[in-house]
Amino acid sequence: ILKGYIDRAPLESDMELKLGNKIKLKVSKGSSSILVKNLYLSCDPYMRARMRDFHGSYIPPFVPGKPIEGFGVSKVIDSDDPDFEPGDIVSGLTGWEEYSLIEDTKKLRKIQHDDIPLSYHIGLLGMPGFTAYAGFYEVCAPKEGDRVFVSAASGAVGQIVGQLAKLYDCYVVGSAGTQEKVDLLKTKLGFDDAFNYKEEQDLDSTLKRYFPEGIDIYFENVGGPMLDAVLLNMRTHGRIAVCGMVSQHSYHDKDGIHNLFALIRNRIRMQGFLQSDYLHLFPEFVEKVGDYYKQGKIVYVEDMNEGLESAPAALAGLFTGKNVGKQVVCVSRD
Ligand code: NDP
Repeated sequence: ILKGYIDRAPLESDMELKLGNKIKLKVSKGSSSILVKNLYLSCDPYMRARMRDFHGSYIPPFVPGKPIEGFGVSKVIDSDDPDFEPGDIVSGLTGWEEYSLIEDTKKLRKIQHDDIPLSYHIGLLGMPGFTAYAGFYEVCAPKEGDRVFVSAASGAVGQIVGQLAKLYDCYVVGSAGTQEKVDLLKTKLGFDDAFNYKEEQDLDSTLKRYFPEGIDIYFENVGGPMLDAVLLNMRTHGRIAVCGMVSQHSYHDKDGIHNLFALIRNRIRMQGFLQSDYLHLFPEFVEKVGDYYKQGKIVYVEDMNEGLESAPAALAGLFTGKNVGKQVVCVSRD
């Protein structure tokens, strides 16, 4: 474990390592690095895009030879930054390793210990939950009674979008890839209806069955044939919030979209967005969604894999639909 720090620590002369029960690390003078023990790691679809260097990406690729970077919840072991003390729990970008030396502490968020499980800070109250919040309220421009369709609906983002839409008095239908997920949507997550898109022969007629009067809001998570079918079912002045296109992350699976003319015919607003454009809303999001959770108005489904060694398979599972709910990896519970 320590070899990683030694390789990356900036100035050997200022470095002090103590082994034993307690790991201690001092890095160069003037540095504000912190040493953290990683507790929970988040598996997110965008990480797949960081595994290749391609033009259209909005995030730089991973650096070969360095640990995979991703969101996590971690415990501070040692700190040269006066804002953090040993024992603090933080959430933010960390490495897929047991311990990480974090040099840029500005984007870390201290987590208050309360009755919300720590791992929820990379899901419900972290980046995916915030994506749902910003996407639904800011991009979808919802109105009471709107007919809302969510794809990948049982996943990290989708399950929150659907529940926020229900709290807004919308009619909400979700699609997912197994019967287990469909049942989850209709029972625990409170969607009005749900269907298994893998069992439908013709998605256009499926959507007509669930939305005989058309769709006002489509929260797009998957792209491909689902988007094409949705375009044929949008109501006039409908909104499509393009959050992600998980079916397009691999090299080969790129289905063309044929029905874009519907955007003109039905004056549909189709808008891509990145949650990072709305970070000014993060504090209100944490407060509002945290309260919803504490009041039992929102539930949250998490899929927890045990052990750092399970992380690669957990990440790959996002692209075959293996995860049921938000995929996280537990590296250590304390
Ligand atoms: P999920 O927890 O929903 O996991 C991904 C799910 O996608 C899988 O469980 C699977 O569910 C579904 N899926 C996988 N491959 C396909 C495919 N080929 N066709 C259709 N569905 C597929 O992931 P997240 O909730 O974390 O992310 C959802 C989307 O949101 C992603 O596209 C992601 O990139 C995007 N995103 C965008 C952000 C932004 O700022 N714009 C920020 C965060 C996420 P099933 O069994 O239902 O098929």
